[in-house]
Amino acid sequence: MIELKNFSFSYGLAPVFENIDLQFKEGNIYGLLGENGVGKTTMLKIISGLLRPKSGSCTVDGNVCFDRKPEFLENIFFLPDDVPLPDNSTPFGFFRDLAGFYAGSNEEEMQRLAKEFNIDPSRRFKEMSFGQQKKSLIVCALALNTRYLLLDEPTNGLDIPSKADFRRILSERVGGGQTIIISTHQVKDVENLIDPIIIISNSSVLLNASVEQITEKLYFEYGGQQRPDALYSEMMPGGYLNVLPNNGMGESQINIEALFNAVLRNREAINNNFSF
Ligand code: ADP
Repeated sequence: MIELKNFSFSYGLAPVFENIDLQFKEGNIYGLLGENGVGKTTMLKIISGLLRPKSGSCTVDGNVCFDRKPEFLENIFFLPDDVPLPDNSTPFGFFRDLAGFYAGSNEEEMQRLAKEFNIDPSRRFKEMSFGQQKKSLIVCALALNTRYLLLDEPTNGLDIPSKADFRRILSERVGGGQTIIISTHQVKDVENLIDPIIIISNSSVLLNASVEQITEKLYFEYGGQQRPDALYSEMMPGGYLNVLPNNGMGESQINIEALFNAVLRNREAINNNFSF
């Protein structure tokens, strides 16, 4: 389990996080959502031990992340948004350089995923488009099979079919025991994939809830009139999409963009255990 306890972080005097308590439990694909600049990358760097909390603690299975002990490092892989790629390197080379450090790494799986993503792992990165490079790196990261996998803005630069491939390939991992954190500001890209959903804003965690908890508290109504009691409404073909407090209306399908907007516009109520 990844555990952040009462942790704060700032770059110089500018606070990024203040007094955060957060747990990432095994076997889930967490979505870490927030607007640009809220601190998603910073949080992933703290979890991977690259930055030290200013106060409080960050541990993975009881190991202090910033200590970067071998038993911590062998279980976690962080794929940043921008990976420096040496001129002549290929996905095969990149994967083989890393594979020795991770007991679960599997080159056959890497090849299978590369095929599904329609990329050639023996091609040099410099001959690939940005999107192909990104897909290659995701494939390598997945095939390392670390217990914890942190993906920073993984859908950046992917075209629409590749985003669908990404969601499909990642969804194969659900329930497999691996803990994956996907940070993104492009929330639509991870719809129907992430659960729980964490939304951060203004140095704190605004929402940290499972899809089940969210649909218990909120009802997503598609079509019809704009409702005055909606936490958020937007026009859609055939009427309005309304996000409403769920007063016994049953279960509905989450629209993640609407959820994101509803949460940002109703910070206090959401933060206060959805008390509308
Ligand atoms: P996100 O990933 O959500 O876009 P970041 O974690 O990259 O956000 O950045 C959070 C805040 O910290 C931003 O205001 C950013 O400008 C600032 N920041 C990020 N890296 C540094 C750094 N190395 N030095 C100073 N400020 C930084």
